[in-house]
Amino acid sequence: MPDYLRPTALDDALAALSRRRLTVLAGGTDFYPARVGEPLDDDVLDITGLPSLHAIEERDDHWRIPALSTWTDIVRADLPPWFDGLKLAAREIGGRQVQNAGTLCGNLCNASPAADGVPVLLGLDAEVELASLERRETMPLADFLRGNRETALAPDQLMVAVRVPKPRAERTRGHFLKLGARRYLVISIVMAAAALEAAADGRIVRAAVAVGACSPVAQRLPTLEQALLGRPCDAALGDAVTDAHMAPLAPLDDARGSAAYRMDAARTLTARTLAELGSMM
Ligand SMILES: Cc1cc2nc3c(=O)[nH]c(=O)nc-3n(C[C@H](O)[C@H](O)[C@H](O)COP(=O)(O)OP(=O)(O)OC[C@H]3O[C@@H](n4cnc5c(N)ncnc54)[C@H](O)[C@@H]3O)c2cc1C
Repeated sequence: MPDYLRPTALDDALAALSRRRLTVLAGGTDFYPARVGEPLDDDVLDITGLPSLHAIEERDDHWRIPALSTWTDIVRADLPPWFDGLKLAAREIGGRQVQNAGTLCGNLCNASPAADGVPVLLGLDAEVELASLERRETMPLADFLRGNRETALAPDQLMVAVRVPKPRAERTRGHFLKLGARRYLVISIVMAAAALEAAADGRIVRAAVAVGACSPVAQRLPTLEQALLGRPCDAALGDAVTDAHMAPLAPLDDARGSAAYRMDAARTLTARTLAELGSMM
């Protein structure tokens, strides 16, 4: 019989992980669908009994979103416009039941190329906190995600939180758009996220733009980010986007769309994201 552990203290969870191979279970919204029609034979470490992993907090230089923060928690949290992109992504993850159970950290650890949380958080320069019984470490999300369903998580580690550094400028905002085969309850064909910081004169001093579902891991678009610096924030930002800016993407043909369609959609969605964000700032 497989084992099922549900500790109520983080150190007990980490001690269990240090002793043997266990599959971590949070909201289960990726875990269970991946096992449909198969026997449930994993030894499971259910982390939903860990009270220390719940509350979203503002710290001196970052916000901390712990491992059991669900998409609903994120939508309801009192967060600045810097998080608007993350909130928009949260509202489009599955339906209400999935948003009530599924966690941001589960989305990152599952490391699907179509994970809606990833492009937004790459654009916010997020870091992840990893813990084992022996040590704690923080690493950039960009280093944590290594490929399609591949991460830097060691078997004895838990992701305990995501950290989002505070922006420096006063005028800041994020945005997110997703394209699927229908408007809601759908896996992304392409998604685009952007975050802008502007000086008092309205000109952009920092730009982050990322596209998901067009490469094994969502990609930032550095040459586009560079091209946006110094521009005024308005709807014309969408006109800055060119085909050349999409060079980091490597979309695949699959049941949801051809590579050529995805590339075209990525450019269109990126332009629309920037145009909408520019006009809202
Ligand atoms: C109907 C439906 C619709 C969906 N729609 C979307 C969608 O539109 N967009 C989208 O991006 N996703 C979607 N998903 C996928 C899923 O809801 C999200 O990825 C969710 O955020 C996963 O979180 P979870 O807590 O349920 O993870 P779980 O299923 O519990 O875990 C996922 C993986 O991460 C590991 N894990 C979880 N937490 C930790 C941790 N703290 N430390 C270490 N490892 C951990 C688990 O071992 C497992 O491998 C959908 C799922 C369903 C069922």
